[in-house]
Amino acid sequence: MKRCYYEILEVSREASADLVKRAYRKKALEYHPDRNPEPEAENLFKEASEAYEVLTDPEKRTIYDQFGHQGLDQRGMHHGYSDVTDIFSHFSDIFEDFFGMGTSRRSRRGRVGRDLRYALALEFMEAFHGVEKKFKITRPETCSDCEGKGHPPEVQPQSCEYCQGTGQLLHNQGFITISSPCGACQGRGATISERCAPCSGRGQVEVQKNLKVKVPAGVEDGMQLCLRGEGEAGSMGAPAGDLYVELSVQVDPRWHRQGKHLIMEQSVEMPLAALGGEIFVETPEKEMALEIPAGVQNGELLQLKKMGMPDVQGGSHGDLHVKINVKTPTKLTSKQKEMLKNWDESSPKKSSLSKKSKKSKKSGLFRF
Ligand SMILES: [Zn+2]
Ligand SMILES: [Zn+2]
Repeated sequence: MKRCYYEILEVSREASADLVKRAYRKKALEYHPDRNPEPEAENLFKEASEAYEVLTDPEKRTIYDQFGHQGLDQRGMHHGYSDVTDIFSHFSDIFEDFFGMGTSRRSRRGRVGRDLRYALALEFMEAFHGVEKKFKITRPETCSDCEGKGHPPEVQPQSCEYCQGTGQLLHNQGFITISSPCGACQGRGATISERCAPCSGRGQVEVQKNLKVKVPAGVEDGMQLCLRGEGEAGSMGAPAGDLYVELSVQVDPRWHRQGKHLIMEQSVEMPLAALGGEIFVETPEKEMALEIPAGVQNGELLQLKKMGMPDVQGGSHGDLHVKINVKTPTKLTSKQKEMLKNWDESSPKKSSLSKKSKKSKKSGLFRF
């Protein structure tokens, strides 16, 4: 259920565009994901952005006033925001205005760290049982010598004389004023006489880090695990990015995976297939007895319930499907041959062994 746009921005229905903008600014400052770590902040930010977008567009606002959310939906005029970068690119000029920042996820305090990726290989059995894996990554971290400032603590930054400490330079072009980051201070608004030596003034250093990740039982090839805040450090106190651990699970020749179900092949001797009996099959967990019904056919699938993969979401195990391969005997003694012939003759549906051999002679290969 969508909330009322006026309610979201806490403005009256008669509010001017200017008032709407000011109300949005207040909400944006409050719920900006770089400023507000609360999980619902991002959604409130998106909601406020959508409200602002509609209420500052005269056409959309008129439709909304008359027909509500449904009216906009019917005309395909709802602008849902899938993520915040979308909002930043859509409203870049306003944010420049609000925070003095561009289209990227920047805040005055610094830049949020980038997300990092790590490829982790798992054996089939590790994916089956779950495992805790240790690994090393090299990632940029805040320089401890300067605490990310880029200059020695005793050196005081001087307000940049080119931009008067704003970090932005304004150029007048006719009626419009264009602002761009100040080149002298790289948009920081301050200059320093001495750089921090260990990080060469970048505020970050590459650090090798030992990490561990708990891989839940039942993971599949291609799944990702997210380690929050284990990505690149943010600059100047901004939050760190996340680390995505991408899993590649090795194939086991014994069990073929289909989601959480497993398929395995099992050879069965012909007499056993005909008469039925019990065999032992290897499941990932243990050896298990499998009842072979009399007359089982080649290629038939028998099931061992809940002997497949564990459900990574915590549900019940998948099943293990056993595909039966009936083995045709190849090396027969003359006695066995005799028995088979007798069996064939006594069975109601004769396979007419002799006819077959005549036929094959007729359809033999031509010789040149
Ligand atoms: Zn440093
Ligand atoms: Zn400057």
